Amino acid sequence: MSVLPIDSLETPRFCGVPTFMRLPQATTLSGLDAAVIGLPSDSGGPYRTGARFAPNAVRAMSVMLRPINPYRGNINVFEELVVADVGDANVVPGYEIESLERIGESVAALVNAGIVPFAIGGDHSITLAEIRALAKVHGPIALVHFDSHTDTWDKYFAGKKYSAGTPFRRGAEEAIIDPAHSIQIGMRGSLFQRDDISQSIDLGYEVLTTDDALDLGPRGLAQRIADRVGGRPTFISFDMDFIDPSAAPAVQTPEAGGPTARETLQILRALNDLNLVGCDVVEANPLYDGPGQITALMAATVTAELMALLASQRAHAEG
Ligand code: MN
Ligand code: MN
Repeated sequence: MSVLPIDSLETPRFCGVPTFMRLPQATTLSGLDAAVIGLPSDSGGPYRTGARFAPNAVRAMSVMLRPINPYRGNINVFEELVVADVGDANVVPGYEIESLERIGESVAALVNAGIVPFAIGGDHSITLAEIRALAKVHGPIALVHFDSHTDTWDKYFAGKKYSAGTPFRRGAEEAIIDPAHSIQIGMRGSLFQRDDISQSIDLGYEVLTTDDALDLGPRGLAQRIADRVGGRPTFISFDMDFIDPSAAPAVQTPEAGGPTARETLQILRALNDLNLVGCDVVEANPLYDGPGQITALMAATVTAELMALLASQRAHAEG
């Protein structure tokens, strides 16, 4: 059984209620291999809030994307995977811990049904709730984390432990992430403290700066990632500020000097040999995106490339 998106050569893209890539909106979880879910919480954002608006902004731009991926042998993603858009998790605006609980429940419903979640954030704090749900089923998760920041700080503002800046320290502390098989990619820019990078290494993560990642090239980087996670259940978390602000200006905390849109997509298209159990694309903030909506377009494209990765892995597994 395959469930295909609305045919944009029959019904124009501007018609209808926009779901991700014009997929059906799920009425049941039965039979799904993967699901797109919006996690519209920005209660963990220390700087520009507004990521709560990203899921629908990304859906609106995702109508541009087509089902066949020419970078992975012309695979039709939706002939390999049954995917639907399951809508958004409910959240409690302004209440971080309560929002993480609700997000965790919504993601757990997918994970417990064997469905691979493709989440659209939300600020980066939401990833902790996703990985909590995944680790209950898969054990400690290998994390592949694209970001210009490590997000392994301990506390923010009045000693608060849950924030977009802390999920990967909490995940290591809760033993739901396996740092020894996890990698953080893309760090750059100025620091608050001299140990902003080394704190991640001290937790057990491998850390590659933007310069390290681009020096390796897409294939070299993909191999480094595959070697690090070594076939373990893997979660890819993609913070849109990994990308240069010229191609993704609408994020909470932009950092100058990042990979271009093309360099970013080359990296994602080179990824392989990953046992993908979940993905998220976080920190898009449509309030800063301007009329071209280029950050939302990039976020939709990143999500679609990660979906194509899963589709190609499944296709190869079936032989
Ligand atoms: Mn982040
Ligand atoms: Mn970041």
